[in-house]
Amino acid sequence: MAQTPAHRRGLLIILSSPSGAGKSTLAKRLRAWDEDISFSVSATTRKPRPGEVDGQDYNFVTVDSFKHDVAHGEMLEHAHVFGNFYGSPKAPVQEAINAGRDVLFDIDWQGAQQITNSDLGKHTLSIFLLPPSITELRRRLESRGQDDPETIQRRMQKSWDEISHWGSYDHVLINEDLDETEDNLRTIIKATRLRRIQQPTLIEHARHLQQEFDELT
Ligand code: ADP
Ligand code: 5GP
Repeated sequence: MAQTPAHRRGLLIILSSPSGAGKSTLAKRLRAWDEDISFSVSATTRKPRPGEVDGQDYNFVTVDSFKHDVAHGEMLEHAHVFGNFYGSPKAPVQEAINAGRDVLFDIDWQGAQQITNSDLGKHTLSIFLLPPSITELRRRLESRGQDDPETIQRRMQKSWDEISHWGSYDHVLINEDLDETEDNLRTIIKATRLRRIQQPTLIEHARHLQQEFDELT
């Protein structure tokens, strides 16, 4: 039976890594690969960086508005990272996965843990990206040209906090060659979409098989 969106439940695909290991680059590539993958736009209380678009990269919100949404149960998960609040709004995720579309999360280990332990945990695929080396991680942060030296230093100092959680993810990829990592991500996603729990129409198909079997025997 063809795997059209109507025949499957969407996945919550979580990508975590230390800052600079390649999450946003790979998230963009995956979205370009398959339009059934949408991106969870997080809410954050941090200020936009140059070039970031409100509603696209993040929903930039005030601390009061963030706390209000958390208190009203509107966040699937939330965490305090680098001195700012970050959270994933629940409603768009529920809507997407019910319609058979996957949602990709670029979130830290705290958020990954909360989603994995939530009601939607069984539909979650978590992937951790490791850099080939710490030297290369620094080189990527510098070459990205987004942060001042102080911020880069802060991100480097925090990188071990994030890396130390690699062991609690379903899959761990060393992002050395970008094309190879993308290829591995596609393979993992394709295989996970075929998990029994992602295919709600299997029961109906098995029933039809049984009916046909009974008629023919
Ligand atoms: P993150 O979202 O995890 O902070 P980015 O996706 O912004 O990281 O990547 C950081 C920098 O490293 C970017 O300039 C990106 O182009 C580069 N990069 C990502 N993956 C690779 C790779 N496999 N090889 C070389 N450069 C990479
Ligand atoms: P940045 O400020 O560089 O965009 O993100 C900093 C860190 O916050 C990254 O590790 C990113 O994965 C994480 N992050 C971004 N959005 C969320 C979110 O909604 N929830 C959680 N838990 N972490 C997030």
